[in-house]
Amino acid sequence: AKAEGRRTHRFFEPAMDARAQARLAMEQDLRQALTAGSFDIHYQPLLDLSSGEVTGCEALLRWRHPERGMVSPAEFIPVAEDTGLINEIGDWVMQTACTEAAGWPSRVRLAVNVSPIQLKSPTLALRITGALAASGLPPDRLEIEITEAVLIHDDESALAILHQLRAIGVRIALDDFGTGFSSLSYLKRFPFDKIKIDRCFVSDIEIDGSAAIVQAVVNIAAARNMTTTAEGVETVQQREMLRQLGCTQMQGYLFSAPKPAAEARRLLGARVET
Ligand code: C2E
Ligand code: CA
Ligand code: CA
Ligand code: CA
Repeated sequence: AKAEGRRTHRFFEPAMDARAQARLAMEQDLRQALTAGSFDIHYQPLLDLSSGEVTGCEALLRWRHPERGMVSPAEFIPVAEDTGLINEIGDWVMQTACTEAAGWPSRVRLAVNVSPIQLKSPTLALRITGALAASGLPPDRLEIEITEAVLIHDDESALAILHQLRAIGVRIALDDFGTGFSSLSYLKRFPFDKIKIDRCFVSDIEIDGSAAIVQAVVNIAAARNMTTTAEGVETVQQREMLRQLGCTQMQGYLFSAPKPAAEARRLLGARVET
């Protein structure tokens, strides 16, 4: 009777079952995608706001699903994190992007997103070192982007990995700054090289108090020897404002959306009028 009760309970939650099934299906698809070569990386240039030169380029993962077409990383990264697949996928991204970046002009630094889950793996620093060595990309031309989620739990082992990477010359950027539960105290917990100012402050920069917030972040960064990158810059007005506020770099559709490797390569020598 007890077993039957449980079965009945499950039977009356079809929505839950459908969601769980969709997740399971995606997990299987993600596993296949790695071996089938359905992942690709697009690259988005970062421009220095004072020189107008491209000084960085961010690797952004793309998934061409056989039936669903392009699936957004916002949709599949959380599933990859829950299942642990993010470790294998992340290794593939690191190896592929480092190999691509080794052929770029030396002033262009490669930025790669690293999930908090990846920072739980004690061998991550070793695997990143391996990807750098195999590609020939010097460690100081790699920048990893992490979110504050890594710092919230004051995870000593994650911090140890960041320090290991730092010791070999890899740069560390704090991504999406100003969203979620971010707090200034995180800046004390780890000596970041860069703060990436979230797109929401850039899109509102002419409207409300966002300019003052950006200014405050730029000032804090400068005082602590960090640079700043504004994300999601879409208009000339936003770019001008950010330059006046003293922001170091910009990234966004105004210069370029993320592009396939060959197309991005052609943009890296560009210099825009500032
Ligand atoms: P993110 O790291 O904050 O990346 C910036 C996102 O903003 C990218 O979305 C990019 O395409 C988009 N973007 C860039 N410029 C503009 C703009 O001017 N306007 C607007 N509206 N959007 C802009 P995307 O490529 O869909 O990636 C979404 C998120 O997925 C990333 O956010 C990152 O958190 C995650 N992600 C992407 N690739 C990887 C990866 O290889 N590993 C991990 N762990 N996460 C990744
Ligand atoms: Ca990022
Ligand atoms: Ca971001
Ligand atoms: Ca984001």
